[in-house]
Amino acid sequence: MMKDPLLPGTAAVLPGASLQKACKFLVLFCAFHLSITLVYYMFGRETTYYTEQLRYGHRANSSTGPLVSVLATAEQNATPEPSSTEPCPDTSPLLVGPLRIEFSISVDLEEVRRTNPNVMEGGRYKPKNCKALQKVAFIIPFRNRDEHLKYWLHYLHPILQRQQLDYGVYVINQDGDATFNRAKLLNIGYVEALKEYDYNCFVFSDVDLIPMDDRNIYKCYSQPRHLSVSMDKFGFSLPYNQYFGGVSALSKEQFEKINGFPNNYWGWGGEDDDIYNRIVSRGMSISRPDAVTGKCRMIRHERDAKNDPNPKRFDLISHTRQTMNSDGINSLKYSVTKIEKFPLYTKITVDVGNPPS
Ligand code: BGC
Repeated sequence: MMKDPLLPGTAAVLPGASLQKACKFLVLFCAFHLSITLVYYMFGRETTYYTEQLRYGHRANSSTGPLVSVLATAEQNATPEPSSTEPCPDTSPLLVGPLRIEFSISVDLEEVRRTNPNVMEGGRYKPKNCKALQKVAFIIPFRNRDEHLKYWLHYLHPILQRQQLDYGVYVINQDGDATFNRAKLLNIGYVEALKEYDYNCFVFSDVDLIPMDDRNIYKCYSQPRHLSVSMDKFGFSLPYNQYFGGVSALSKEQFEKINGFPNNYWGWGGEDDDIYNRIVSRGMSISRPDAVTGKCRMIRHERDAKNDPNPKRFDLISHTRQTMNSDGINSLKYSVTKIEKFPLYTKITVDVGNPPS
């Protein structure tokens, strides 16, 4: 007898049931596929965002918020994860290259602090996942330039972390309103930083200079390093071959070899030329990044009060070889007025005395 194809339980019902099953399977398959696509979509978006942020670094017109996630993600993504006792690689994998630097934004230090959670009190940092190759003290000669310091902290902290340095930031603030003495403040920074930590490299940086590329590593080299080689102020080139102003780096040995910096340059100019003379007279040469990597931007400003061009500078520069053995770190005299530990830097206020009358 023929089976009625419409009666349930008969063989003729089977094609309908398997169709139903097939449909169910298809729906499940589609749902599965959709969720996989969704996961990839989300992941892909994160990757694109991460890559873009790496490319542009911290954009000057965005908050520093994303940068922290870049740092965090970048640190997490560094595979295999090295231990903190393993030396950091010669070239940090966190570098992003050219950076957009602008001074039209307003910087809120509280926000900078919040977005750099790994920077410790006094402006100290060391990488978590590897042992930094150098311990670098950043010495900033300073007086009444709080606005410029904000930009320095905003831009430099993320850069220095990406450069995987073990570092500290020291702002050496000249007390009183006597004539400014940049080189003496740098000497003081050297001495005071060493009282705190076993630094082996010293980067001396003007407060108003910001690097435009994080591949310009703020560390020490086999020869004294000039870091601000391509300043916007000078049309992105050196004003003259012997120029050693702006930002420079000397190891402890290099600094000691030249008896530190001169203490007797009061007012603007000449002290960096004296340092250049010291370096060359001790048989060392200047190392520099190329003009692209070494690009940097200076914050435009009026000349500071009590920092007029020093009329004695030309005479002083011509006698470096005669004076450098008795004027330097071995003849440094000053007193500390105050040491303040801020979240992003250490401020040391000092009395440097007065120029000879
Ligand atoms: C001064 C330097 C200064 C340079 C660039 C020279 O005449 O002696 O101290 O850095 O000019 O401005």
